[in-house]
Amino acid sequence: MTSIYSSNLAPGGALDLQSLRNRLSGDIIVPGDAGYEAARRVSNLGFDRHPWTIVRALTAADVVQAVRFARLHRLPLAVRGGGHSVAGHSTADGAVVVDLSGMRAVSIDPGNHTARVQAGGRSIDLAGPAHAYGLALSTGDTATVGIGGLTLGGGIGWMVRKYGLAIDNLIEAQVVTADGRLITTNAKQHSELFWAIRGGGGNFGIITEYTFRLAPVGAVYGGAIVLPATPEVVRGYLQIAKEAPDELSTIAQVMHAPPAPFIPEERLGELVFMVMVCFTGDAEAGERAIAPFRALAEPVAEMVGEMPYPAMFNLTEAAAQPHAAEVRSFFTDDLPGDGIESIIDAVGKATSPMSMVQLRVLGGAVRHVADGETAYAHRDRDYFVAVLGLWLDPSEDGAPHRAWTQAAWDSIKQYRQGVYVNFLADEGEDRIHEAYPAATYERLAQVKAQYDPENIFQFNQNIRPAIRQV
Ligand SMILES: Cc1cc2nc3c(=O)[nH]c(=O)nc-3n(C[C@H](O)[C@H](O)[C@H](O)COP(=O)(O)OP(=O)(O)OC[C@H]3O[C@@H](n4cnc5c(N)ncnc54)[C@H](O)[C@@H]3O)c2cc1C
Repeated sequence: MTSIYSSNLAPGGALDLQSLRNRLSGDIIVPGDAGYEAARRVSNLGFDRHPWTIVRALTAADVVQAVRFARLHRLPLAVRGGGHSVAGHSTADGAVVVDLSGMRAVSIDPGNHTARVQAGGRSIDLAGPAHAYGLALSTGDTATVGIGGLTLGGGIGWMVRKYGLAIDNLIEAQVVTADGRLITTNAKQHSELFWAIRGGGGNFGIITEYTFRLAPVGAVYGGAIVLPATPEVVRGYLQIAKEAPDELSTIAQVMHAPPAPFIPEERLGELVFMVMVCFTGDAEAGERAIAPFRALAEPVAEMVGEMPYPAMFNLTEAAAQPHAAEVRSFFTDDLPGDGIESIIDAVGKATSPMSMVQLRVLGGAVRHVADGETAYAHRDRDYFVAVLGLWLDPSEDGAPHRAWTQAAWDSIKQYRQGVYVNFLADEGEDRIHEAYPAATYERLAQVKAQYDPENIFQFNQNIRPAIRQV
């Protein structure tokens, strides 16, 4: 992409930023401004990019203005919500970045069990206020991940087996389209668009607000059981978690024991299998559901109990902080013994103590929605597997960690049966097609042609607009 980084900023010039600034409730930050260095950073510190300007939107009208401006001047346009894009799509050199992080308002309707969430809101921005009414939405596992990006890809959260994906609870969204209109989309209005934004990513417009249905959730029975990382334990986990009641969702990680308060100091750094559990129901039933994990092997450590739902995010506090990451992932129904051994072997050779392989067991309510009902296309898959190469210091040479991620991926990629778009890095066109079967991709391309024929929204897992017959 041609850089317009040094373009003319003079008032009255072709790129009159002052006139845009005058039309905004929010602000504009450009290189040289005091806040620019902080504003250009995203959560993944590996993406060290320099946008041409950052529009800090405060209202949907600001987003409209930013889109019209970028389109008029044919400027590359990136969208930033929570800033956690695995592919670095929420920032780009020389681009106009529409930064939604100032739009985090949440409004709960306790009578109707719904929430309106501005699209810059993060999981924790909703979880706290909803909990005050004994309500919750299953979003993701990490407090600071944006509901904006997460929802557009599907949203696999702590209660996914009980309450489905975040998109399965989406009622409506406000969207700014490529031609600078603010429209409402739901099952009746712009229904094809509504289908597409439930799994098709940020291809179709900028969401400014979501309306979700909330579930009656107060306390959950949750926490972590840390087991030795042996093939038998991992195999046993996959079976038990798959056959567990839908009330139990789990996320498990082959990793080096992290410095958590509940892990004995002498076990820190040991290769372990941490099973994080979230049971939505009473403690007794929760205890029955998780007991089989404990029977797999003598736990290294454990911290499980009744807790308010938002406390689940304490388990992933480290992931919520800015860090550098290289990610490869897939869905599968079949992770045989050799695959499990490759995973354990790979983590044993990790170049960073933070790197890990994560396993999530799906099923349950994800399957209650028919395959074609949303653009999220892999509802039948049992497991999600992610190789997470993670390191903290951005000045560190990331090459060894990237090479480790690639090697770990190479050792298990033959088991892949599709990929989750939200965990896709910048891996090329073929991998985008792995996220969407041919018919889904074709339908997305038709919606793209209708709502964004010029591909204004291109910093995403990009769907090429279908060529329209005239
Ligand atoms: C630490 C970590 C934990 C994660 N955990 C989970 C998890 O538990 N479950 C899960 O499902 N996913 C998870 N993810 C993946 C996550 O859902 C995606 O990375 C998602 O894109 C992040 O959204 P964001 O708003 O934070 O990111 P951003 O980087 O701000 O946005 C990512 C992309 O989404 C699009 N986008 C964002 N907001 C809008 C908007 N309002 N309108 C239009 N397009 C928009 C844009 O294309 C943008 O480039 C995790 C990622 C990380 C890094």
